[in-house]
Amino acid sequence: MTDQTQHPQKPHPETLVLHAGHRSDPSTGSVAVPIHQTTSYQFENTEHAANLFSLNELGNIYTRIMNPTTAVLEERVAALEGGAAALAVSSGQAATAIAVQNIARAGDNIVSSTDLYGGTWNLFANTLNTLGIEVRFVDPADPEAFRAATDDRTRAYYGESLPNPKLRVFPIGEVATIGRQLGIPLIIDNTAAPIICRPLDHGAAIVVHSTTKYIGGHGTAIGGIVVDGGTFDWTAHAERFPLLNEPDPSYHGAIWTEAAAPLGPIAYILKARVTLQRDLGYALSPFNAFQLIQGLETLPLRIREHCRNAAAVADYLNHHPAVDRVIYPGLPDDGEARRRAETYLDGGHGGLVGFELRGGKEAGQRFIDALRLFYHVANIGDARSLAIHPASTTHSQLSPEEQQSAGVSDGYVRLSIGIEHIDDILGDLAQALTAAIDTGRAAA
Ligand code: PLP
Repeated sequence: MTDQTQHPQKPHPETLVLHAGHRSDPSTGSVAVPIHQTTSYQFENTEHAANLFSLNELGNIYTRIMNPTTAVLEERVAALEGGAAALAVSSGQAATAIAVQNIARAGDNIVSSTDLYGGTWNLFANTLNTLGIEVRFVDPADPEAFRAATDDRTRAYYGESLPNPKLRVFPIGEVATIGRQLGIPLIIDNTAAPIICRPLDHGAAIVVHSTTKYIGGHGTAIGGIVVDGGTFDWTAHAERFPLLNEPDPSYHGAIWTEAAAPLGPIAYILKARVTLQRDLGYALSPFNAFQLIQGLETLPLRIREHCRNAAAVADYLNHHPAVDRVIYPGLPDDGEARRRAETYLDGGHGGLVGFELRGGKEAGQRFIDALRLFYHVANIGDARSLAIHPASTTHSQLSPEEQQSAGVSDGYVRLSIGIEHIDDILGDLAQALTAAIDTGRAAA
């Protein structure tokens, strides 16, 4: 504990998640963040309405674009990530789509890591492609691959801090540095590593989250968020960002870098809110925002337990005779992976553990079918322990080659370790491993 009277400092994550963005409701005194379940907001008069629509005055217009409950979630996650502002949206997928579409349009490209969640891979390889945005996939093992894939139509670099399910930490600082030299912002999906990874501190420009996962934590609400770090100079390489630096015909010729200047370094997120969110309508329900705020309040505490339990599971599996390979950033398989985990993760190695059973895909499936405590679901980051076989589920729409580059082998089993008592977690794994081996033997 530091002496606050001598060295006043910024609040810690544990404090921010409880206090940032809301003290009490000004009209009722409510300490819990009220659910503003409203579509619209009464304007004071016609002049007030006109001022809000023209952005001469900031205020609530319509819940597709902003909402007071959602605003608290936005302010808290922005504070937690050390960013300037945030935009909460209806899912993690929407967060990634809006983060890219905010600066890239038909004819442009982005360079992305191959180490991605399957849904993001589909969005990039197929849907963005049909919109004319090319995604160039590179292996982040060599950060220079990002530079090599860059041309004058490159608008962003993209990676996952702790890739789901490859679990090899992304070289955030290395790629961010290349990007800042060339005028290209790095967007990091920090879904799998909130609290333990702070991408903006390492030079990333934008952070996205699927708040569905650890931030919510209780498996009750789908949501996503885009955080603007506020440190990327969109005007320094203005030719790369016409969407931010040229008059926007959808807003009477507004130039977003100029329009946002009096409000702070938030041109990127302001434009995302008042153009893409207005037009595409990826709005988060205020009720879901409330649920996500409830989860966020205990996130630092839960992450510590997730990390502690996952480390114990990785160690257990690593010593189990039926297990061929464990994939976990705390047991890196080479020096560079270890260095990246040490550089970019602080306070734990996350809650995800992958492994391959001797006996491959069939053994993996027998193992999943034998689990009793673990849920077999397509999710991660729940307070409960979860398991899945990515090759036949979350990554099944990828080709075998694409699966391989995303780290999904045939026999890969992904565990999302929850916060139950570690003895109960290990007990379930032990019985399911035994069952998988025994039924395999019986079938042979
Ligand atoms: N990013 C990562 C790393 C994910 O694991 C997921 C979902 O599993 C997503 C994004 C998409 O989030 P959502 O399901 O909230 O759309």
